[in-house]
Amino acid sequence: MARRARGASRSQRRAEAIEAARATRVPGRADVAVVGGGPAGLAAAVAAAETGADVAVFERDVACGRTILPTGNGRCNLSNARLAWERYNDPSFVEAVCGPRFDEDVLGFLEGCGIAVAEESGGRLYPLSRQAASVRDALLARARRAGVTLACARGVTGLERADGGWRVAWDGEAGSGALAAGAVVLAAGGGAGVCDALGLEVAPRVPVLCPLACEAPEGVSLEALDGRRAHATARLLRDGAEVARERGEVLFRAYGVSGIAAFDLSRAARPGDVLALDLTDGLDVARARRLVEAADGSLAGIVDPAIAAALGGSLERARDLRLVVRGPAEAERAQVTRGGLVCAQFDPATLEARRTRGLLACGEALDVDGACGGFNLAWAWKSGLVAGAAAAAVVRGWR
Ligand SMILES: Cc1cc2nc3c(=O)[nH]c(=O)nc-3n(C[C@H](O)[C@H](O)[C@H](O)COP(=O)(O)OP(=O)(O)OC[C@H]3O[C@@H](n4cnc5c(N)ncnc54)[C@H](O)[C@@H]3O)c2cc1C
Repeated sequence: MARRARGASRSQRRAEAIEAARATRVPGRADVAVVGGGPAGLAAAVAAAETGADVAVFERDVACGRTILPTGNGRCNLSNARLAWERYNDPSFVEAVCGPRFDEDVLGFLEGCGIAVAEESGGRLYPLSRQAASVRDALLARARRAGVTLACARGVTGLERADGGWRVAWDGEAGSGALAAGAVVLAAGGGAGVCDALGLEVAPRVPVLCPLACEAPEGVSLEALDGRRAHATARLLRDGAEVARERGEVLFRAYGVSGIAAFDLSRAARPGDVLALDLTDGLDVARARRLVEAADGSLAGIVDPAIAAALGGSLERARDLRLVVRGPAEAERAQVTRGGLVCAQFDPATLEARRTRGLLACGEALDVDGACGGFNLAWAWKSGLVAGAAAAAVVRGWR
């Protein structure tokens, strides 16, 4: 009964959102059209509108900013206090786009939205409210204040050159139509779609920042470990050589390993790689032996007793548990998609396509992905700001 009532209210809320979206009038012309109302698209819209451009954001979902809500488990890990290029798949491109003031620019933007941040372990930054909804609300309020038209429940279905600018065709639950724009910012995220039809080079999209499906060595049952957590040093080995290393939480699952360390290693992992876990987290081996001896041969003072039991009480296994990686797991819940628009086609100073005047891109639509810890949202904010400001500059010649 309760479930039915909750279901009804969700569909009611959706119907109300569609009604509100229909009530928004979409002009026939705008300086800048932004495709996608996620964090990158909203940052781009704000940057363009605050320099005086008329901006319309097209969002195929019933409301803008909804992709912010599940981030950081609903708390929104919105940036990192120690942003570093090498935490991204294409460090030189990210450095060229974001520049030496990456951290300050991101924080300045968030502050300008009225968002105070708090630092947690690993430099992770969260809103002081620890609520992703407050980040979304602050961002939408700033976009509205800047005069941005939020055209929700309207997906962009076609983009073509027209009159020195662009014809943007849209369709969705709020209706259909077309708009003339001087510049278009592609901010549609990691899914395939309208970006792919533009003749630009698109790298194959694969899920990353997700758990890893693994095979356990003989004598170890992943089912027995399911749900247990450890703070570990995790190394990814390929042909015996280390290709990546992370320190952090691992969460065993019946299919393999989840947790932040596994998520980060998923960016480098290939099927057949070996995931070597030190579940004693680098504890000196002689000291570990002494501790086990002092505990009458039990590992329980070093690792979770259930893990110790599943490893047959073997200190060697706890120090070097080797799992064979089968591939990504729960890919539908991956935090980021690697792949997308190939970065080399875009001028890093503006994020405008080198060969297509007035076409810009930002966020996950580009082939950029970062580590867990706020790096992906930091990229979304900053690349959005760069693309939005450049789009506004492009249209000064078009008006
Ligand atoms: C569960 C989860 C947790 C995460 N947690 C964190 C975290 O804590 N910290 C962090 O840094 N990163 C986190 N991320 C990653 C982060 O959310 C993304 O990197 C970020 O949202 C990318 O922003 P974006 O605007 O480029 O793309 P998106 O957020 O994907 O936004 C794209 C928008 O475009 C819309 N769209 C797509 N096609 C069209 C079209 N044709 N017309 C109109 N609209 C369109 C989509 O509906 C969407 O709203 C998390 C991701 C997930 C899934």
